[in-house]
Amino acid sequence: MSFGTLFVVATPIGNLDDISARALKVLREVALVAAEDTRHSVRLLQHFGIDTPLAPCHEHNEREQGGRFLDRLQAGEDVALISDAGTPLISDPGYHLVRQARAAGIPVVPVPGACAVIAALSAAGLPSDRFVFEGFLPARTAGRRARLEALREEPRTLIFYEAPHRLLECLQDMADVFGEQRDALLARELTKTFETLKGLPVGELRDWVAADSNQQRGECVILVAGWQAPEGDDAIGAEALRVLDLLLAELPLKRAAALAAEITGVRKNLLYQAALERQGKA
Ligand code: SAM
Repeated sequence: MSFGTLFVVATPIGNLDDISARALKVLREVALVAAEDTRHSVRLLQHFGIDTPLAPCHEHNEREQGGRFLDRLQAGEDVALISDAGTPLISDPGYHLVRQARAAGIPVVPVPGACAVIAALSAAGLPSDRFVFEGFLPARTAGRRARLEALREEPRTLIFYEAPHRLLECLQDMADVFGEQRDALLARELTKTFETLKGLPVGELRDWVAADSNQQRGECVILVAGWQAPEGDDAIGAEALRVLDLLLAELPLKRAAALAAEITGVRKNLLYQAALERQGKA
């Protein structure tokens, strides 16, 4: 007998009209729906008149209970995996089940649909050719700041999920680490009644959220523009310029630039250009 298929099915992140025709067909036809929270998902299925049985598959039982679903799949039954909202495995349970199923040679088929990170990025107007999804930042300040520090010079657009009660402190940390002027966007309550997309430099975004407590409610995605390498003197740094100035006072320009490059590790042609400008020769 051939194995059944594990379908990984995206469900809406707010607006129920976002469910796909294919998702409905799969949820209707499978033998079992593995759901993050069966009480939550039974309402979704009822809304669409689907009475397929549900079984829990959440982060606390996923590893241990995966075998139950694998047994059914290996017996030839199809199973759909869903989470409370959006795409399973994206900051949601499902990774262990999908991994176990693939290791057992069971076909795993995605049924794509809503996903907050992609919805937010698609409307943000920030570079979308390359981006980094960081999921949820650590809840405590020290851990959050350490993670942000590690991303300070990441050139790709950064995308985070955040809980509403931590939004303000998170934006404050982002302004401190990335600088007040870094472009950012808050995407809140996507596809829902109070959907808001607000793009501002991160310091202004923090102040805007602080001034309106309604912005600290609901679900949100934060996007931050990637780091851009500074140009001109900023790219060289104050310490390298100080070394260059000291050497320029004692040595010919070319020699000073070469020595400054050796001492500071900054590229020689950058220092040479800076030396020309300092001596009014550029
Ligand atoms: N699997 C989901 C997906 O595909 O986006 C994400 C699940 S994760 C547990 C929940 C987080 O996703 C929320 O805290 C929020 O950061 C983000 N999110 C989910 N729905 C959202 C919405 N309608 N608007 C904005 N953010 C949303």
